[in-house]
Amino acid sequence: MITDQIDASLLKMAEEAEKEIKPQFERIDKVEQYNADRILSAFIENQVSYSDFADINGYGNYDTGRDKLEAIFATILGCEDALVRPQIMSGTNALYLAFSAMLKPGDTMISITGTPYDSLQEMIGLIGDSTQSLKAFGVKYEQIDLVNNEFDQNAIVERVKENNVKLVEIQRSRGYSSRKSLTIAKLEAIIKAIREVNKDVIIMVDNCYGELVEEKEPGHVGADLIVGSLMKNLGGGIAPTGGYIAGRKDLIAMCADRLTSPGIGKDLGANFNMNNAFFKGVFLAPEAVANALKTAVFSSYMLAKLGFKNVSPAYDEYRTDIIQTVELSTKENLVRFTQGLQSSSPIDSYVRVLPAPMPGYPFDEVMACGSFTQGSTIELSGDAPVIEPYTLYMQGGLSYAYGRLSILLALQHVLHGEPQK
Ligand SMILES: *Cc1c(COP(=O)(O)O)cnc(C)c1O
Repeated sequence: MITDQIDASLLKMAEEAEKEIKPQFERIDKVEQYNADRILSAFIENQVSYSDFADINGYGNYDTGRDKLEAIFATILGCEDALVRPQIMSGTNALYLAFSAMLKPGDTMISITGTPYDSLQEMIGLIGDSTQSLKAFGVKYEQIDLVNNEFDQNAIVERVKENNVKLVEIQRSRGYSSRKSLTIAKLEAIIKAIREVNKDVIIMVDNCYGELVEEKEPGHVGADLIVGSLMKNLGGGIAPTGGYIAGRKDLIAMCADRLTSPGIGKDLGANFNMNNAFFKGVFLAPEAVANALKTAVFSSYMLAKLGFKNVSPAYDEYRTDIIQTVELSTKENLVRFTQGLQSSSPIDSYVRVLPAPMPGYPFDEVMACGSFTQGSTIELSGDAPVIEPYTLYMQGGLSYAYGRLSILLALQHVLHGEPQK
């Protein structure tokens, strides 16, 4: 038993933690209940039927399941339409598809949340020399940084007023940065301010890790396009692959033409017998997100209580995504914590995490991910660049019971070295 490997003092602290974090858990349950209602209603409204799970191969003509799934995603995200496809292989792919469909040579895009997530940097052309980057196609990129974790509203409004910006990109989640994630209320305020001076600019939100954490999504507060990954929240830990784009009907039609071909648009594309998994994944997503959040809140409380620095968000802080970060201060702590997470995973528990170079990353990385779906981060996972101050980025947890065990074992590794097996 894993519990037998944990010191009594840690187990006691966990019990105390669970008394303290009750109000947070109650809030999480409320949001889950609300979002479950939205999703179940969308299933009923779209008359999802057993026959929608049929395997349609070849060109994927007349796939009613694919169409209903996309209608459900659109509703959940507060949008008119959506593309949800296994041909969109990840969040990064979905972002590149959306940018490519929206931006033509000479257009300007502007990130208003500072440097974008790592996997966007080569696609935009900030690094590397790909002939397929947006930069290589003649798309101009500008950036307005956050100021004290807030939008620089004056600078943003002044810039978009000029009416020569095609697309504004907003990243809801912090990604691998120390900034805070941006709540829906903050997105709503900045979108409103942008709309007051420019009604044409396309407002696109990178929604990765944010779905179903709050009661509203970016589409409910005026975003034109929303992009995410099915290896994260809306895959519910069940979708085997995929990405989505949701948004205005005309813009989704453009993305579909770019994905398939003009003349085909949304009408074709085989789902490789995955409709059942996509439906089941999004159906279970409110619960998966709630459990990931509970695991994060529990970790946050325990890590702060044990004296670790910059635990963010704090356990009682309002959350808009499932990411938890902490400075583990020493390389040894970081390596031990990720080893502990890995050794308590259902898959690949025997694998020993060690710092190693990774393609595309400037520093050695440690990565713990013992997941059923490769690289899935709605399942409990943690990773970090092995540099000071040894900040760990942790997310996911399909079940709080399992998440709690993993966190306790990881803490046991950090505090007392490897437990006896
Ligand atoms: C994970 C993530 C992505 C990329 O999604 P993948 O499915 O990993 O390609 C993009 N942006 C943010 C903020 C993310 O967290």
